[in-house]
Amino acid sequence: MSKSEADWCKKIEIWWLLRDIKKYGGYKHTTVSWGENGSRGSVSVQVSIWDDEKYARFIYTQTDNATGEKKDFDYKVPIVESPCHFGGTRHWFICTLSKNGQYCGRRVGVLYKDGDWFGCRHCYELTYSSRKVNKKYHLYPLLHTIELYDEIEKLSQKAKRQTYRGEPTKKQKKIERMYGEVFTNYKMFKIAENKLNTQTKGRNK
Ligand SMILES: [Zn+2]
Repeated sequence: MSKSEADWCKKIEIWWLLRDIKKYGGYKHTTVSWGENGSRGSVSVQVSIWDDEKYARFIYTQTDNATGEKKDFDYKVPIVESPCHFGGTRHWFICTLSKNGQYCGRRVGVLYKDGDWFGCRHCYELTYSSRKVNKKYHLYPLLHTIELYDEIEKLSQKAKRQTYRGEPTKKQKKIERMYGEVFTNYKMFKIAENKLNTQTKGRNK
């Protein structure tokens, strides 16, 4: 499979998917779409994190480009949580794809759909291009967030423990710092996005 650019794939970020789930008691049903008014497709997602079995259930129909045949998909992607040093928990998807007969099972913050299924960027061999992107580009904070999330993922898998003698470990401190950065960047993205929406509304008048 050729390397695709992650920025142009359909993707779902866990922090975005779970952002308002507490309001609904840990369960919600939502539609995620890409492109203007879902022109690049949409999927239905049921998310549940209130029970022991935490998951995102993806339901969608896909048309095969070559044969035009419609295929229905309905499957669950497990969600796991890990404790956060400063209290609370953070959530991760478990990638359920298999590559060359090997189950992936990676804990990831972002799922991509570059083929039929949602999976991690490692399985789809996606690359990021935020390094090539101008920092003033309105999507930069979002791309940077995804990169940070990826680094956090790697570090958390390497970090054997979160504390040592009651103090957060070096790795853990770095993870927490990157988390701070993730939220600042995500906020910047949201602000930029709101501005864009307002401008569009203004033009339509
Ligand atoms: Zn994977």
